[in-house]
Parts: sequence; C-alpha cells; structure tokens
Amino acid sequence: RPLSEQFSVSKVRVVVRVRPFLPQEISSRSGDPVSCVSVLDREFGSSEEVSVYLKDQLTSRSECYKLDSFYAQEDNNVGMIFDKEVRPLIHGIFEGCNATVFAYGATGSGKTYTMQGTDELPGLISSSMSLILSTCEINGGTAEISYYEVYMDRCYDLLEAKPKEITILDDKDGQIHLKGLSRIQVKSMPDFYEAFSSGIQKRKVAHTGLNDVSSRSHGALVISVKTPLGGTGKLNLIDLAGNEDNRRTCNEGIRIQESGKINQSLFALSNVIYALNNNKPRVPYRESKLTRILQDSLGGASQALMVACLNPGEYQESVHTVSLAARSRHV
Ligand code: ADP
Ligand code: MG
Repeated sequence: RPLSEQFSVSKVRVVVRVRPFLPQEISSRSGDPVSCVSVLDREFGSSEEVSVYLKDQLTSRSECYKLDSFYAQEDNNVGMIFDKEVRPLIHGIFEGCNATVFAYGATGSGKTYTMQGTDELPGLISSSMSLILSTCEINGGTAEISYYEVYMDRCYDLLEAKPKEITILDDKDGQIHLKGLSRIQVKSMPDFYEAFSSGIQKRKVAHTGLNDVSSRSHGALVISVKTPLGGTGKLNLIDLAGNEDNRRTCNEGIRIQESGKINQSLFALSNVIYALNNNKPRVPYRESKLTRILQDSLGGASQALMVACLNPGEYQESVHTVSLAARSRHV
C-alpha cells in the first residue's frame, strides 16, 4: 500500500527535547544545577510512551505527563530526533505525503537551535535539506524552498528582497494558497544556505523595524519536492513563536497584543492536533492563520511531529509547555 494511503488518518507525534544547561547558567550557580526535567520510564514495546517528570527543586512540587518520546539533555538530541523522527517523514514526502515539524516551547528553550543548529552541528532544517537533495540526486526529482513568517496573524514572504505581505486565498476546492509566495529552486547546499540565511536576516527585523521579532513570530521553511513521475510532497519546518505565560511576563502595549496572538495561535494549533489525534469529525483549522495555512500538511495524507523544547532550569515554564503538548497528544 502506498504511504499516502497508510497515513490517511493523521497522527501527530509529540516528543520532548531538553536542552543542556549553558555555560553561563552553570557558572552563575554554586554547584552544578539540577535539572527540573527527567524521564520516569521509557516503555518500549507495546506502548511506545514515556512519562516526563518535572520537579521544582525549590518547592518540591512536581508534575508528570505522558508523551511519545523523550530526548535527554546529555545526548546530541537534535541528531537523534532527526534520525528517529524526521527521516521517516522525509521518506513519506517522496511517496506523496506532506509533513510538518514544529519546534514548540518558551523563549530560550532551544527551538531555533533545534531547527537551525550551529555551524558545527546541523539542525533539523539543514539535515532535512541535505537528505532531500541527496534523495533527489539518487532517484531523480527537484526541490524548491519557500520561507515565510506569520506575525500578528499576517504572513510575510522572507525570500523577497523586502519582506512582502502575502494573502491567504481559499480555493474553490477547499485548498489554501499563499498568493505569490516566492519559490526558489535549490540544487545544492550552498544554494540553500544563500537563500535561507538572507531570509533569516530579514526575519530578525521584519516589518516593525523592531530588533528581533524572530522569537515573536512563527517562521516556516517549506521544502517542496517534485518526483520524476510527477508526484509532489512538501516538508514544513516551523520554528514557532515562544509561548508565554502571561501571568509571569510583564508585557506592555504591543507586546501584550503580540503575546495574545501568539498564545491564541498556539492554542488553536494544539486544538487541531488534539482533533487529529483523537479522530474528531471536525478539525478546527480555521481558528488561526497558521493552522489554515498548514491544513494540507496536517490533515489527510500527512504526518507531523511536535518537538516540545524545554529549558532544564525552568520549572513553571516547562510545566506550561509540556501540559499543552500532552493535551494535544492525548487520547
Ligand atoms: P529559542 O529559539 O527557543 O528561544 P534558542 O534556540 O535560541 O531558544 O536557544 C537558547 C540558547 O540555548 C541559545 O544560546 C542556544 O545556543 C542554546 N542551546 C539550545 N540547545 C542547545 C544544545 N543542545 N547545546 C548547546 N546549546 C544549546
Ligand atoms: Mg528562537
């Protein structure tokens, strides 16, 4: 059976990734910091499920949530997530499935690191691009990229010389189109880095003129593949805006509006994932721009992965992230 039929009932895997403590976090404490996050049990076999255990070192409060998998801070966990979770999705792209990978979590939890990596250690984006390029080379096929961001419910093309707002169009057949979104053909990794890094630069100061809007918008890199037989598939790699607990951050003015939109769209995303994972007859794609845009890559013949990123030193923030992740998964 072709993969596109096997995945006609979409499920979204939800996994946790904990980043290590940073050198400055270690030096600013006396003694080694103790992580607030650990995994209770890895039940491999019949039920592939892990219990993620969070404990506040100060107050001894604790919480426990069940998720699909856990990637520990001491591992090169981005490489492991690529091999175990993303490779199979890329295999699906060449069989006509669409796929989406989300990095989800608070600001500073390692979302961008997971997606973009560093010069030494590739992130999920460059590992995906290079696997797609080498598969195209072996089997035939071409790859194109688009790169956009969703900020305050508006969509901006980041591959244009100047970030340009893109209109979201509903087709008669229920398909969604981003009208005029740039697509650049990519033949090699240098081609890719050239286009992508100029997009990253634009994302940092896009439209508001403010510095670093990047952590307050959703950034989406889309790699589309065309196979020699005319099949198509695409992989969406999304660095979500940082989720914020409004009770804890002291936001004002535009920041409040932004964080309202961010939390609304993350909640809408979690509702969509919940509906897909629990076979609900109605999936509420229309509740946010992001879920509308991603409709054809979340439902139907699609596969998706949510990587919940955690800072090992932040208890409350981690509870906030993991509880929403577990809520989207739960059956
Ligand atoms: P976010 O995008 O969620 O705001 P970042 O990706 O910018 O968070 O990560 C926050 C900090 O943690 C950065 O300095 C980043 O380099 C560092 N970091 C994240 N993951 C790792 C890791 N696996 N190893 C080393 N440093 C990491
Ligand atoms: Mg970031």
